Amino acid sequence: MAEYDVYCSNCGKTYGKGTLLWRCECGSPLDIKIKTYGKFSIEKENYSMWRYKSLLPSIKPENITSLKEGFTPIVERNVAGIKIWYKLDFLNPTGSFKDRGASMLVSYLREQGIREVVEDSSGNAGAALSAYCSVAGIKCKVFVPASAPEGKIKQISSYGAEVIPVEGSREDVNKAALKAARKSYYAGHLWNPFFIEGLKTISFEVYEMTGGRVPDTILVPVGSGGLLIGIYKGFRELKEAGYLDHLPRLIGIQTPRFARVYELLYNKKVRSKSEAILADGIAVPDPPRAHQVARIIEETEGKIILVYNEEIAQGFKELARMGLYVEPTSATVQAAFRKLLSEKFISRGEAVLAPLTGIGLKATDKIIRYMG
Ligand SMILES: [Zn+2]
Repeated sequence: MAEYDVYCSNCGKTYGKGTLLWRCECGSPLDIKIKTYGKFSIEKENYSMWRYKSLLPSIKPENITSLKEGFTPIVERNVAGIKIWYKLDFLNPTGSFKDRGASMLVSYLREQGIREVVEDSSGNAGAALSAYCSVAGIKCKVFVPASAPEGKIKQISSYGAEVIPVEGSREDVNKAALKAARKSYYAGHLWNPFFIEGLKTISFEVYEMTGGRVPDTILVPVGSGGLLIGIYKGFRELKEAGYLDHLPRLIGIQTPRFARVYELLYNKKVRSKSEAILADGIAVPDPPRAHQVARIIEETEGKIILVYNEEIAQGFKELARMGLYVEPTSATVQAAFRKLLSEKFISRGEAVLAPLTGIGLKATDKIIRYMG
């Protein structure tokens, strides 16, 4: 497995491996730098994201906490002359891509001897963390907004986490979690760099499964931005190891109501903020890594595209007719694809990667209510 440093890209401070800080002393998010690039060696018999151990932060084998997440299929479809690779990440054990992050993070925490964690989430990250903590024998408390969907809360508590509903805004929930974390460890997925290490395996899988081809464009829903950063990091590490000569263009998808990265990137305020929250997985008001996401989009010559509920509903239907039943947040990729096509931002002959992040069965209530 790979040697690494934990560092802050804002102030440059480096923390050794084994740090239990979840953010830098300067207040910025931390990142992980893999120091040793070996060959892109794959454990062919391991049908999970851990087949790429050689490119992940080193963990002792007995601490690896896995439910065989990752190594999800790619379904190739031709839409309007464009090849789309749908990566079925909703087939992960708890029904979302967050299992990759949770598997990596919980393995790390187990290695550090952590016995109890606190997280704030109302959705897929809470479910993933709860499941993996149970497997690792780590006590898990998840703070959720009192208004969070009942089905998602039930999934979180079923895996064994203690769910603590908090009245008020998303910020109030965060404050309550941080207060409780003073006595344990804050495993917040919006911040934690090990979570992102797990997510980067998506790129390794795409590289392996497509025989070393790289998509021209990647469509990524942006809430915390962890998925976009992870996918970028994966391709970037392959490039640094000499396997690629260029990076794909990264398109971030947001909604008008939660458009922080869009606003940063284009230096303007989005006025229309009144829509109901359909894509709840990307309903993050102030993601701590927003600047990082904006920088990556600029570097890869991508963009942020905003999608509206009506377009998401259309995208949902289109995917479902292809046999792909995803939650509204995932359907944003199809909505974004259609928009980029009409803007001629993508064109014939291109290969587009669209990770499908969460299963539709998690969002039955919303699908009944909004998808017609
Ligand atoms: Zn710093």
